[in-house]
Amino acid sequence: MKITFWGATDEVTGSMTFLDFEQTRIMVDSGLAQGTDEVEKINLLQLPFEASTIHAVFITHAHLDHSGYLPRLIKKGFRGQIFCTPATAKLMRIILTDSASLMDESFYSSKDVVTTLQLVKTVEWEEKININDSTFHFQPAGHILGASSLIIKHSNKKIVFSGDLGRHDDPLFLTPVECPEADLIIMESTYGGKCRQGNIDKELASFLIKISREERVGIVASFAVARAQMLLTLIHDFFQRHPEEKVKVYIDSPMMKEANQVYKQYAHLTTRPHDLYNALDEIEPIDYLRQWDSIKKKKGPLIIISSSGMLTGGRIFRHLQNWQHDAGAILFLPGYQGVGTPGRAMIEGNRTLKNQDKDSATWSGEVLTSEAFSSHADQSELIKWLTSKNQATRVFLLHGETASKLALKEKLQERKFSVEIPERGKTLEL
Ligand SMILES: [Zn+2]
Repeated sequence: MKITFWGATDEVTGSMTFLDFEQTRIMVDSGLAQGTDEVEKINLLQLPFEASTIHAVFITHAHLDHSGYLPRLIKKGFRGQIFCTPATAKLMRIILTDSASLMDESFYSSKDVVTTLQLVKTVEWEEKININDSTFHFQPAGHILGASSLIIKHSNKKIVFSGDLGRHDDPLFLTPVECPEADLIIMESTYGGKCRQGNIDKELASFLIKISREERVGIVASFAVARAQMLLTLIHDFFQRHPEEKVKVYIDSPMMKEANQVYKQYAHLTTRPHDLYNALDEIEPIDYLRQWDSIKKKKGPLIIISSSGMLTGGRIFRHLQNWQHDAGAILFLPGYQGVGTPGRAMIEGNRTLKNQDKDSATWSGEVLTSEAFSSHADQSELIKWLTSKNQATRVFLLHGETASKLALKEKLQERKFSVEIPERGKTLEL
């Protein structure tokens, strides 16, 4: 059996690993590299294998950096099966459709997305999939709806892919199921170098109270899938517990609206199905024809949640432009802002934003940030996931900045694990 590392080796995004068994070639995750132009060039590299020779792809979860390369794989001739959980399949449809609408058609188009979705075969957690002489199953990984780790059995060997792992105190999801005893573990290390700072409930409450009591306008930048549903649930819960605080909350993102439907359908997979369902059921998307003329003149207290989460596009620009001269307005960025993104520039003090049409807005209000809202396990949680059933196992670290990988490597080596940080294109015989 051979393993070839391809994506998320030198960068955080673009997860993609190949396994070559005697009779079967599979791919675990098929993600897009995202970030600077330099990073995105990785998406144009020739793959180490002909797409048509791959039998199956296993997708751990719907995030673009784990599923966003699939339509490209189709365009290159892949026609095997794509396995994922039912919730992942639903979210993937939304994410890939949006991705195709932003993509140069020569890379992939919505037609390729349609073909991708036709090849999807959904499986429940723990359901066994047999391909030739290998067996595969998914187990819950927290993180976002449907997210999974993948466990592979092949000739008495067990291989585990962590996928992205959720935190142990996630507001919506259970702690990821721990890594089973394995011979080889391929693990993410996004937060391998640090322990999470901040407290979601406290930071959100202080923002909401400010908006409510000081009658301010709050614009919240959120990813349309996962982050938005968590925020909406927590905001709804806060106002249930504090009926004295009154703030009108709107969402403005067609993709968020669609993702809300999927989260409602699979609310039973979360730890607070009723809160989540009610929050998403009651939230009002802005109706531009009927409401915009009145909303745009509004003073606080008012909150609008829109995307994108790092201000790279989406409808949020319209709101920042509309309230740009309101010195009391607050732009809330609840999440990591990638290097080179407008969100990061905002935090660093560059308050002028441009949209695709070169329209500009200069934000004169407050900018609030928080890193507490991460949906990733931190260093101690990653170690716990791995070490509860494994000792001195061989581990490959992916999906993290170099410093994170090195920090986690050191911690695991202290515990006698054999840890490697693979390079792109590296093939190992196992
Ligand atoms: Zn993810």
